[in-house]
Amino acid sequence: MDFLRPPSWHEALALKAARPDAVPIQGGTDVMVEINFDVRRPSALLDLNPVTELAGWETVDGRLRIGAGLPYGRLIAELGDRAPGLAQAARTVGSPQIRNRGTVGGNLGAASPAGDCHPPLLAAGAEVEVESVAGGVRMIPIDAFYLGVKRNAVRDDELIRAVWLDPAPGPQHFSKIGTRNAMVIAVCSFAVALHPGERRVGTGIGSAAPTPLRAPEAEAFLADGLDGLDWSGPLPEGLAERFGELVGEAVSPIDDVRGTAGYRRHALAVMARRTLTWAWNDHLAATGMVS
Ligand SMILES: Cc1cc2nc3c(=O)[nH]c(=O)nc-3n(C[C@H](O)[C@H](O)[C@H](O)COP(=O)(O)OP(=O)(O)OC[C@H]3O[C@@H](n4cnc5c(N)ncnc54)[C@H](O)[C@@H]3O)c2cc1C
Repeated sequence: MDFLRPPSWHEALALKAARPDAVPIQGGTDVMVEINFDVRRPSALLDLNPVTELAGWETVDGRLRIGAGLPYGRLIAELGDRAPGLAQAARTVGSPQIRNRGTVGGNLGAASPAGDCHPPLLAAGAEVEVESVAGGVRMIPIDAFYLGVKRNAVRDDELIRAVWLDPAPGPQHFSKIGTRNAMVIAVCSFAVALHPGERRVGTGIGSAAPTPLRAPEAEAFLADGLDGLDWSGPLPEGLAERFGELVGEAVSPIDDVRGTAGYRRHALAVMARRTLTWAWNDHLAATGMVS
């Protein structure tokens, strides 16, 4: 197995162009597990750790640009205020050791339906920045990023550079069900993001379909319901309940060792109702409508 170690982003792109078979490795918390278990034996590994520009974040024209190599630990410590949904999800990933090595870029690269970054990125309306020597920079809307189970829209000669999202314009919450409280793959997960300025609510669902996905009907239902409420006052009776039901109807889960399809639908309806209620209460508090 060849081990390629580019010292810069441009050399990483050049190596990926020359060796599209090379598997990128960042934290290695997915790649090394697969190699150790003989799930795959790549002809080459492209180590992105020396590419220091991947491991940071910045604000560009008011938007957050989170480098693909930013480890969860730093995301939690540095971006909890600007990307609270993503930071909440990051706090549930693995253990401190995994959060020290694992990255958002690696989660996107793996594109597991159970990956914890996906629901908050969907709810926030993120974009994934990828780049190649031949094609230059390409921005992929997060809805178009997930193509199938562990398949994403990144081409063989491309690398993920960063993920872009607006600093949270309103409250965001993430909820995950597992068989225990830590070191656990999601049985299912849900994220909600309020966008009060646009008068809409974003959703993201994990582990309940071949890909992470949004619940568009539930989003449209809430946009109407909350607009009728003029985005003020307590949630009307039944609104959060119906929102939860619509989230449960948006998914196509399977029965597996972690849970049944029926359980996942039910759990998602409950998580959607609860996270919406938490987010709405935060919104009322932030706008001074409750003390
Ligand atoms: C014990 C343990 C617990 C875990 N718990 C969780 C959990 O709770 N929640 C969760 O979501 N995940 C969990 N994981 C999985 C893993 O930690 C995450 O998916 C993590 O985000 C992977 O990041 P990484 O940097 O380690 O990726 P890597 O393993 O380095 O790479 C993962 C994939 O992304 C690709 N890739 C990496 N960087 C790039 C790039 N810049 N461009 C293109 N492709 C790229 C790689 O080729 C590979 O296919 C766990 C793993 C372990 C071992």
